[in-house]
Amino acid sequence: MRVAVVTVGDELLAGETVNTNASWLGEQLTARGATVERVVTLPDRVSDIARVVNEYRAEYDAVVVTGGLGPTHDDLTMESVAAAFGRPLERSEAVLEWLEAEGGYTREDLTEGTADLPKGARPLHNEVGVAPGCVVESVYVLPGVPAEMKAMFETVREEFEGTPLQVATVTVAEPESALVERFEQLRERFDVALGSYPGESVHVRLRGEDGDEVERAAAWLAERAETVEEGGSAGEVDEPDDE
Ligand code: ATP
Ligand code: MG
Repeated sequence: MRVAVVTVGDELLAGETVNTNASWLGEQLTARGATVERVVTLPDRVSDIARVVNEYRAEYDAVVVTGGLGPTHDDLTMESVAAAFGRPLERSEAVLEWLEAEGGYTREDLTEGTADLPKGARPLHNEVGVAPGCVVESVYVLPGVPAEMKAMFETVREEFEGTPLQVATVTVAEPESALVERFEQLRERFDVALGSYPGESVHVRLRGEDGDEVERAAAWLAERAETVEEGGSAGEVDEPDDE
């Protein structure tokens, strides 16, 4: 399953807020076996959000949008997603009932527009905050507040799937440039994707659907490079996080 993540907010573009939603969603979706192929950040502007959502819903199996859900003037995501589908916004009776029954709000408490969703959307209730999210066809609209986004993602997590890749990391104490030939040989010999991430040492990450193949490739490299021990032995397939 190929997924695009769209994070919305002027504050993200200005660097005032670190885009932790993008990395968290990338990690969670990847752990489910989905392939995240795009992460984009857009300003709080209807024309941009509507255009990108419309383009991505045609291109990817699912689109996850976060941010800009509240009913304040700078929260334009619902309106934009509705526009992307050519649907009007409509007050959701299901959301109002849920907020009354579970949230402890009366209809009068709620700011105008709080329960407005694109017509025909499936509501996603907000267990942590107020503003609801929703699903329109393959587009999942989640809040920007990280705790709210995470709680709501849990309710749709199972809808994202694929074959999770097995990953092994080999940490190497040689300059990346020195490894080029061994990387080439490794690519020829093994059916794995290789990523090399230099820092203080070079983290070589091997990914593939077949865990044994990944392990063999990692062991092959570990034998031929000066490795750094970093917990676990070189060549072992990483334990998936069960967060
Ligand atoms: P609300 O209903 O409270 O208005 P919202 O869904 O409209 O929430 P935003 O207004 O976009 O969300 O953002 C709310 C808060 O969450 C802000 O403090 C914002 O910086 C933070 N936030 C938004 N998007 C992200 C993101 N991608 N990563 C981390 N924090 C984010
Ligand atoms: Mg906002």
